[in-house]
Parts: sequence; structure tokens; C-alpha cells
Amino acid sequence: MQTPALDALQRVFGHAAFRGEQAAIVEHVAAGNDALVLMPTGGGKSLCYQLPALLREGAAIVVSPLIALMQDQVEALRQLGARAAFLNSTLDAETAQAIERQLLAGELDLLYVAPERLLTPRFLSLLDRAPLALFAIDEAHCVSQWGHDFRREYRELTILHERWPQVPRIALTATADPPTQREIAERLQLEEARRFVSSFDRPNIRYTVVEKDNAKRQLLDFLQAHGGEAGIVYCLSRRKVEEMAEFLAGHGIDAVPYHAGMDAGRRADNQRRFLRAEGVVVVATIAFGMGIDKPDVRFVAHVDLPKSIEGYYQETGRAGRDGEPADAWMCYGLGDLVLLRQMIEQSESGDERKRLEHRKLDALVGYCESMRCRRQVLLANFGEDYVAAAPEGATGGGCGNCDNCLQPPEAWDATEAAQKALSCVYRSGQRFGAAHVIDILRGSDSEKVRQFGHDRLSTHGIGADLDARAWRSVFRQLVAHGLLEVDAEGYGGLRLTSDSRAVLKGEQGVLLRRIAARRERERTRATR
Ligand code: ADP
Ligand code: ZN
Repeated sequence: MQTPALDALQRVFGHAAFRGEQAAIVEHVAAGNDALVLMPTGGGKSLCYQLPALLREGAAIVVSPLIALMQDQVEALRQLGARAAFLNSTLDAETAQAIERQLLAGELDLLYVAPERLLTPRFLSLLDRAPLALFAIDEAHCVSQWGHDFRREYRELTILHERWPQVPRIALTATADPPTQREIAERLQLEEARRFVSSFDRPNIRYTVVEKDNAKRQLLDFLQAHGGEAGIVYCLSRRKVEEMAEFLAGHGIDAVPYHAGMDAGRRADNQRRFLRAEGVVVVATIAFGMGIDKPDVRFVAHVDLPKSIEGYYQETGRAGRDGEPADAWMCYGLGDLVLLRQMIEQSESGDERKRLEHRKLDALVGYCESMRCRRQVLLANFGEDYVAAAPEGATGGGCGNCDNCLQPPEAWDATEAAQKALSCVYRSGQRFGAAHVIDILRGSDSEKVRQFGHDRLSTHGIGADLDARAWRSVFRQLVAHGLLEVDAEGYGGLRLTSDSRAVLKGEQGVLLRRIAARRERERTRATR
């Protein structure tokens, strides 16, 4: 049936049909109702308020935290013939006044505003006199104090409902673990609003996690499968961003750095090149990405561990927005985990916040170490129970498009290795990092081992049967499974936990994931 909504979708936006829940959402909001929309990045959220804005009398006021995003959207809307404008700090007074006049005269379909501007008494009284179609609150998770994008002003947006109860509101976000979802509804007084929850699955993204061995070489190997394609490489620090970009450029890859500490001009140049030129790889901190709409990003690589599953999901969600196959690849090791634990512990945050961040990190580590389908683990975090219909190559309801589905990992009985590791940690005083304990286990007579008299420990040399790489894998998994913990307040030394005892006493066995065989190419290269 050709509804006015479908008609506008085709006529204005040039799309043949609605996607997923779009039709229902547009209808609901256009009819004057409130909505809370949870849809993954690339799912098509913008249309959910842009179309009702065109269908209803008056202007839609769109609250958005991102100036760059506002400008892009307004530009795109104008090209489609919609009457759109934005108000933010980049405009001079004259332009801003002209836009305000248009708003009052009913000459705008959509007006994007930054929250701090919207909340000024002057702007609120302006809205009293303007014809209003609806309020759209984009990136609604910014209201959540626990999210990484918290914006204080978002908390005050309840005034929209209090002052204009008859104007429908639609809040949208791509971050939707159930607690955040509840917090959005509560904080924005949207408990009564209808919720539209789309599946967060991104079937075209292939998830892979590899154990960190030599991150640079592993990344280069991964990039070989993506020659000439655009992608994003995320690093934890600005220094590593610069270093990695240089390293990749030195290996013939068109790589540019991006982080908040860069000169603004150079940063904007790099972003522009990534968006316009073909096959550019951006090496970035997480400062890069929010609001970047590039459909053909073919991969997102993490060479450092992200801080949470939500963050990981958002960052990887920037790949494959065009629906074509894309890779989400992560390289992770014990060092990442130690570093992040220290960063949390040594931050200024209060205890409650620290506990929360440790828990979020635990969940992410659980994802990395899982032997189950990655997609199942990822989506379970968003309260979604993923069971594949029966795609090719899928086993046990797995997706058939992640490393664990494609090459099911093997478990090995690591009880004895775990006992050796734990007892060596104990005997060396529970204050050294994995590298040193591994040296002791492998019987090294390094300077440091001798200096501390660790060559005289009973555990010296009892682990010579495993190589250092295998031991690193064991230690990483012991920490991930809570059998060892990191002294994050100090220098990151390892110590036993309350669960270690049962393993040491032989009351509990330990099954670990077997370390993946090194790729042939890597092996030959390493021996050259
Ligand atoms: P989100 O804000 O959820 O990340 P967008 O609103 O930016 O997603 O939409 C992502 C892409 O999908 C855009 O390029 C948009 O033009 C396209 N899109 C949205 N809805 C449709 C549709 N019904 N048919 C075809 N393309 C669509
Ligand atoms: Zn899978």
C-alpha cells in the first residue's frame, strides 16, 4: 500500500522500501507518539525522525551532540530538497538569527541543535513561539553516566517533555545493553514510549580475535588480505597511533594517523582523505569514528584491547555499513589487560565507577577468551539470544562467520601447567609480571632471575617443556579466568586469587584454549 510515508521515502530519499522497523517507527511518530529506538549503527536511524519531520506540520528539533555530524546531515537533507538547518557554536550571530527567523516563520522542516544551545532560556522561549513537529534526541545514550559519551546537558532534556507535553519525542541510540536502555527511558522520561528494538546483529561482519605475539607483524599479515581497502586501526594511545601509522606507511600502506592531540588542521585533512580517497587506512584512538559515515570501510582492527564490549561493538560497527563483507579483527595479550587494569585503578574515578569499569573489562575479556561463537557472546551482551537459522558452516547455532565457528578452538587439560604457573608466582613473592615468572619457569639465568635468587627456587626450570609463547597464553588465560590477578595499584605484578588454591591443591582442573598454530608464513619469517 502506498502510504504517505512510503511515498515520501521514495520521492524525497530515493529509497525503494523501508528497512526493518523503520516503517513502524515512522508511522508511530508521525501519528504523534513517543518512541525509543535502539538500532545498530548503519541501521538507518536518521530516517526514523527525518521522515516524520517532513510529514508533520512545523519543525523537528533534532538534538545532537556532534557538530560535524549535524553539518553532514543538514547538507545531505538540503540536497534532497528538505528545509534543514543547524544551530551551533560554529555559526556567526547573523546567520544564527536568520535561522531563528526561519524557524518562527515555519520555514524549516528540521533544525539540528547542540544540547547546550537548546537549553538556553532564550532558545526555549523561542521554541514557545515556533511551530513544532517533534523532538528527536539523537545519540540518546549520552544521557547515561556509565557510558563513555556522557553529556551532562542530556540530563536536562526532560524539560522538552515538561514544557511541550503535546509534542512527540523520539530518542535514538546504537548503544543498547539493557541497563543503558533502562537508564535512557528513565532519564528522558520515556518509560511510556513505545520501544523499537532492532537486532544488533551485523551479519556481514566477521569477528576474529588473535593472541598477541608481535602486534605489528600480525597486523601487517591481516592487512595483506585487505590490500587497497579502506579501514580503521584502533590503538590505545596517541603515541602508539603515530608509531603504528608510520610503521604501516613504511610498509607501503596508505595509512594516516588520527587522535585528539594532533593539530586540528592535520587531523581534519586526514579524516577528509579517509572519507574521500580510496583505500586509506586510518590509525586512530577512539577519538575517531563517532559520526563518521563511510559505507565501504572494509575492516576495523584493534591492536589494543578496547575498554568494553559496548565500545568494541560501536567501533567495529563502523565496518561494512554497505552490507558487504567486512572484518572486525582484534589482537590481544596479557599486557593489554594489565595496562587497562592499571589505567582504571590509577584514574581519578570513584570506587563505584572503577568497579564498573573493571566489570566491563571482564565482560570484554570473556568475549576474547570465549570458545563459543563470537556473535552469540557479543549479542548476549545486548540481551539478544542469537541462534543462527542454519547458515553454511555453522555449528551449534553459531553464525558460521567468526573465527570460533570457522575454526572451532581446541581445549587442552592445562591443570599441571596452571599448577606450575601458580606455584611459581607464589614462590617468587607475588609481585612480578608474567614475563619474569615465565623466565623462571623456563629456567632462564637472566640477570634479573639471578639478582633475585630466583634461579634457586624449586620452580626454576620446571616449565621448560612449553615455549614462552605458550606460557604467555597460559598466564593470560589464568588472569582472564580469575585464577591470577593483576596488582593494578602497583606495577602490575601477578598474585594468587581466592580461586587459585583449589587448583594448586589439585581439587580443580583447568581447561584452556589451545594456542593457535602459527601461520606458516609467520614461522618462516620469524626464523629468517
Ligand atoms: P544510523 O544513523 O543508524 O547509523 P543512517 O541513518 O546513517 O544510520 O543510515 C545508514 C545508511 O543506510 C545511510 O547511507 C542511509 O542512506 C541508508 N538507508 C537508511 N534507510 C534506508 C532504506 N530504507 N533503504 C535504503 N537505504 C537506507
Ligand atoms: Zn560464530
